[in-house]
Amino acid sequence: MASRPHLVFFPFPVQGHITPAFQLARLLHRRHGFDITFVHTEHNRRRLLRAGGPGALAGAPGFRFVAVPDGLSPSDEDAAQDIHALDSSLQSTVPHLLSNLLLSSSDFAAAAAVVSDMDHCQQLIAKGLVPLIVEIYADDEQLRNGYLDNTVIDWMPGLPKTMRLRDFPSFIRTTDRDNADLAFTLRIMECHRTVPSAVIFHTFEELESQVLNAMSALLPPIYAVGPLPPLLEEEQQQEEDTLLGSSSLSKEDRSCLDWLDGNPPKSVVFVSVGSLVTPTKERLTEVAWGLANSGYHFLWVIRNDQRDELLPPGFLAETEGRGRVTSWCSQEAVLRHEAVGAFLTHCGWNSMLESLCAGVPMLCWPFVVDQQPNSRLACMEWRAGLEVSDDAVQEEVEAAVRQVMGEEEPRRSAMEWKEKVARATGPANHRCTVHGFVTRESTGESAAPG
Ligand code: UDP
Repeated sequence: MASRPHLVFFPFPVQGHITPAFQLARLLHRRHGFDITFVHTEHNRRRLLRAGGPGALAGAPGFRFVAVPDGLSPSDEDAAQDIHALDSSLQSTVPHLLSNLLLSSSDFAAAAAVVSDMDHCQQLIAKGLVPLIVEIYADDEQLRNGYLDNTVIDWMPGLPKTMRLRDFPSFIRTTDRDNADLAFTLRIMECHRTVPSAVIFHTFEELESQVLNAMSALLPPIYAVGPLPPLLEEEQQQEEDTLLGSSSLSKEDRSCLDWLDGNPPKSVVFVSVGSLVTPTKERLTEVAWGLANSGYHFLWVIRNDQRDELLPPGFLAETEGRGRVTSWCSQEAVLRHEAVGAFLTHCGWNSMLESLCAGVPMLCWPFVVDQQPNSRLACMEWRAGLEVSDDAVQEEVEAAVRQVMGEEEPRRSAMEWKEKVARATGPANHRCTVHGFVTRESTGESAAPG
C-alpha cells in the first residue's frame, strides 16, 4: 500500500492557471515527496498531446495525469473554452470523478488535499476588490460614461492609495448585480472563505505584503508560495522532465531562442498578450507602428488565428530583418535571454511575475480582468513598468518603447526585483513559505519527507 502523502491538483483549465499549478505540483513532488494526481480537461489533454507528442502525459512514478470531460468535442480543436459553460459542465461531472480520485489505490494513498483554483478570479479575490464598487457607485450612467474613471479609491484594505476606479478589474466595474462574471466571482469568493482549509497565492511577501495581510483577516490560513519559476529552474535539468513534459498547450517555437542569440544584450523588445486576450485591430495597429518606428528589434508572439487579420498591412515587410513573429514560444526562456531588454505585456499575472523574475522592465498594455490592477501596481508601486494607455497612438507607443529601452528607469527597479526574487526563493525563505503549506497538508504531524 502506498505511504507517501498524495495531492490532487485541479487547475482551472486555461494556460495561465495550468502553468503555475504544474510548477507547484512538480516542486512538491520533487522536493517534498508528495505523490501527485494532476487533472486536465479532455480538451486540454488533446492539446497537450498535440503540442508535446504522444509521450507528453505519460507521467512518472508517483505523478499521474488524468482527464475529465469538459463538454467540448475532439473536432473543437481550436475552440476557446467558454468559462461559464465549462463551469456548469464540470459541476455535474467533477464531484463523482474527484471522489474516485481521492480514494486510495494500489499506487496512491488516499488524497491528503485537493489543490484547486477552479475560478478565474483568484488574484482579484486576493486584492479584496469584489463587489464594493457595486455598492458605492450606484449611478450606472456616470459609471458607464467614464466620469468616475479617475476617481482614486484610497480606502481598500491592502491596496495602495494610487488605485483609480479605472484600475479596477473590468468586470466588477458594473452596477448590474445579474452580470454573469460578477455572479461567478461572488460565488467563488464565498467558496474561498468557507471551503478550503488553506489558501495559497502565487505571489511573495515582499511583492504583496499588504494585500496578504489584508487577506489573512478574511480567509482561511494563507500561504504565499511564489514566485515559482526560479524554484524550478534547477529541477528542469532532472531526467523526470522527459516524462512529465511541459505544461504548454501550444507547440513552442524553439528557433526564436536561436534568433535571440544573434542579437546584442538588452536590444530586443519582447511582445506577448498571453493566451486569451485578442486586441482590437485598431489598438494593435497603433502598437505595431509605434514599435516599428522605435527602430528596436522585437520578438512578437501573435497567435496564428490573429496574425493575418490583425497585423497592419505592410508591417512585416517594413520590419523584415529586425522583427520576428512567432505563434508561441517558451516565454520564461525568452524573458531570461540576455538579448531581451523590455517586455510589452498584457499584464497577465504569470507574465508579470516571470518578468520580475528575469529583471526585465515592462511596457504595460492591460485589457481585461486583473490586468488593469496588475498594470497599475507594476507602474506605480513596483516601479518596474511604464503604462501604454488604452487610447495610446503610435507616437506615444514609440516614445514609451524608447524610454523603457533607453533609460535607467524602470530597468533599475526591475533588476532590483530580480534580486528580491532571488532572496525570496533562496533556501531559507522558500522553506518558510512552501514548507508551512506542506506541513499542514501532509498526512502526518511533521513535514512531508524530502
Ligand atoms: N506563455 C508562453 N508562451 C507564449 C506566451 C505565453 O509560454 O508564447 C505563457 C506565459 O509564460 C505565462 C502564460 O502563458 O505563463 C500566460 O499567463 P498569464 O497569466 O500571463 O496570461 P493569460 O494567458 O492568463 O492571460
